[in-house]
Amino acid sequence: MQIKTIEPIAVSLPMLKPVVMAGEEVRRADNVLVRIETDSGVVGWGEAASAPVMTGDTLESIVSAIHYLSSTLRNRDPADIAGALTAMDGRMYGNHGAKAAIEIALLDIAGLSTAKPVYALLGDKKRSRMPLLGVIGGGDREGDLRDAEKKKAAGVTAYKIKVGIDTAENDAARTREICKTLGNGMLISADANQGFSTAHAITYVHAVRGSGVDFFEQPVAADDLDGMAAVAAATEIAIGADEGIHSSEDIRRHHERKAARGVSLKAIKLGGLRAVTEAGRLCDSLGMSVNISCKTGESSVACAAALHVASVIPNIAWGLTLTHTGIADDVVAQPLRTAKGFVDSLDRPGLGVDVDEDRVRRHRVTVAARNVA
Ligand SMILES: [Mg+2]
Repeated sequence: MQIKTIEPIAVSLPMLKPVVMAGEEVRRADNVLVRIETDSGVVGWGEAASAPVMTGDTLESIVSAIHYLSSTLRNRDPADIAGALTAMDGRMYGNHGAKAAIEIALLDIAGLSTAKPVYALLGDKKRSRMPLLGVIGGGDREGDLRDAEKKKAAGVTAYKIKVGIDTAENDAARTREICKTLGNGMLISADANQGFSTAHAITYVHAVRGSGVDFFEQPVAADDLDGMAAVAAATEIAIGADEGIHSSEDIRRHHERKAARGVSLKAIKLGGLRAVTEAGRLCDSLGMSVNISCKTGESSVACAAALHVASVIPNIAWGLTLTHTGIADDVVAQPLRTAKGFVDSLDRPGLGVDVDEDRVRRHRVTVAARNVA
């Protein structure tokens, strides 16, 4: 079997409501789907979200990178995923979003043609049911409290509160109220998305002390490991890294510098599901907690991919964040099913979701990208 076509498709998906975080407000989810077809007619799908402040990727850059990489992929055996990754790295540095979308589509094809779910291509299944981490990020106190009550009533047991938006004192007051609404026995995190200075992050952790926050993600700038370590030293709340993690080397560095006790892993940051799986194993060997996550507003394609990784890595102590529940219209016939705050592993061959090409066309947007392949 050979790869025949690689088509990047930019889509703009409507959000149910905007997600407000430091440095970014997501009103529409601008993602790139990739459709790979083999000479025997097998079609695999992948997806990468644009993430200008996290990976540097825009819709245009992802589409251009996929065009640029496609000449190294055409006529290759789709089952040789390691070979495809090496060939892509040889042709183009970085561009982890584009490479992740392509790798996910190749894994979908590999699963479909061997009748195995994608997780079985990544490792041994460790769990069948996983707790979902609900994001509370409307940007206003009343809305967030209502959202917390709604998610709690729906059975959600793990939460992430977006902070770094207001002053440290006001964000801390909002956090404390949300924690009180959620009550005991929940996994609660806050995520500043690099929005605080070290001093403000320390003010924040002191002000939320004892309120039930279990971990605090990316308090300061991604490359400020001194700042991360200073915040970590100032509190017993575990500090997590997200925007600062783009490789296994980044994980080791944060661990050595005592800058983080856990990480959030995303395919678009690490360059695919194999890299995330490997990073998850490394974290476990270092005693670090792991959150597997999609970028805000990814469809059931990228969310299924994240779910397969979460099914096989040693620990997901910090939960699984699937974001398709935040979009108003998905690109698959049956959105990935979640129930009472949990999600079950997908045991069908491939990714286990059926892309509806009519829906893809409905949300397709034209972007100015040169096809230089
Ligand atoms: Mg984050």
